[in-house]
Amino acid sequence: STRVRFAPSPTGMFHVGGARSALYNWAVARQSGGKFVLRIEDTDAARNKPEWIDGIISALASIGISKDDPTFEGPYFQSKNADRHREAAQKLYAQGRAYYCDCTREQVQERTGSQHLGYDGFCRDRGLEYLEGRALRFRTPTQGETVVVDLVRGEPSFPNSAIEDFVIARGDGSPVFLIANVVDDLDEGITLVIRGDEHLSNTPKQQLLWEALGAKPPVWAHLPVIVNEKRQKLSKRRDKVALEDYLAEGYLPEAMTNYLMLLGWGPGDDVELRPYEELEQKFRVEDVNTSPAFFDIKKLTAFNGEYIRALPVGKFIEACELWLLAPYAIWAPEDFDQVAWEAIAPHAQTRVAVLSDITANVDFLFLKEPVEDEASWTKAMKGDPAALLATARAKLETADWTSPESLKEAVLAAGEEHSLKLGKAQAPVRVAVTGRTVGLPLFESLEVLGKDRTLARIDAALA
Ligand code: GLU
Repeated sequence: STRVRFAPSPTGMFHVGGARSALYNWAVARQSGGKFVLRIEDTDAARNKPEWIDGIISALASIGISKDDPTFEGPYFQSKNADRHREAAQKLYAQGRAYYCDCTREQVQERTGSQHLGYDGFCRDRGLEYLEGRALRFRTPTQGETVVVDLVRGEPSFPNSAIEDFVIARGDGSPVFLIANVVDDLDEGITLVIRGDEHLSNTPKQQLLWEALGAKPPVWAHLPVIVNEKRQKLSKRRDKVALEDYLAEGYLPEAMTNYLMLLGWGPGDDVELRPYEELEQKFRVEDVNTSPAFFDIKKLTAFNGEYIRALPVGKFIEACELWLLAPYAIWAPEDFDQVAWEAIAPHAQTRVAVLSDITANVDFLFLKEPVEDEASWTKAMKGDPAALLATARAKLETADWTSPESLKEAVLAAGEEHSLKLGKAQAPVRVAVTGRTVGLPLFESLEVLGKDRTLARIDAALA
């Protein structure tokens, strides 16, 4: 049966690109009743941190890849397999498939000039033995070609003469990533490697290693690079790439999962918003695109808004809890009013696209005075709306405060007296009451805030 793996290096926050690879691997494993092996590639001791490992496992769980699912196997740790990596390197040496080399980088450069062709094979036939400082190089074939069977890319072929005799163990005897990665895949019985495009250039080398170690190479699938709106490869220095950051901002895991599944693949019909279970069944790695996948935060945000609206309102209320507390909330905790919050929540649910937006949308209910926002104030109060505000106040005073419709009539009527359409008439009311030019449906907001507080805020604005 199909055995795939996800092999992250625990060197930082969990990248959305990693999340996509994991999801594609997961879908393939689950569809075929196979296994999804988690292997932590933790051999770079200088860059690894144990907390990143927990981060990987909890990030995977957040997108539905759970340790407790029978499809899941591991985690295994690359560092624990170090003896096998050495053994493999030694086996290749013993078989004459690898040789020791004492060339320095400078010497190679001097011989090859500016051609950058890689290693020139100087030590190939010198028969050097191991000495501290000598690297072990794989003797690549000089003829023929290495054809990689790639479910996404077709069958790219690499002339062997262009593949340099690459290093498999360093001068201190420690095997490098290329061979450790192969030996682990081999030991774990991996049949299909689904991973990012950036590894495609390693693949012919790795396939040669599989063959030299007497094993049948896996099938490969290299996923297209993920780019930002400037068509630059998504990078953690430039872009927001950590899955954790998106979740912490109030992107729902279901929306993230849905969006990530579509980063380079589509279900073939036009239905993009759909539950993971459905995407999992439809996913075919053969249908993944080769062209770069644009990580479109606007689209992700729109997806998230849809997922938020689809929540039962009780769940929405619960999901927002975090953002109604410090440090997000800027009101005094005792001024928070659960009844008012639950009354406004259904209106908020139709408006927010990211959960963290909730705070600024409802703060007018819990702050003693609305936020002071100079720019909003200037914008809404230009043309001196004092007369309008005074009329609106008078009409609101006698309106029916159990009906948003009646509050709207009041503002509409005030606008008419000053030859202003509803939109123009309600803008200063909104700023006087909420401090902002945009927000939740105004008349519902006024109703929840209540007559006394609303009128007092208009009075304050007029003073
Ligand atoms: N540890 C490698 C990485 O994070 C994985 C390479 C692979 O999937 O083969 O890029």
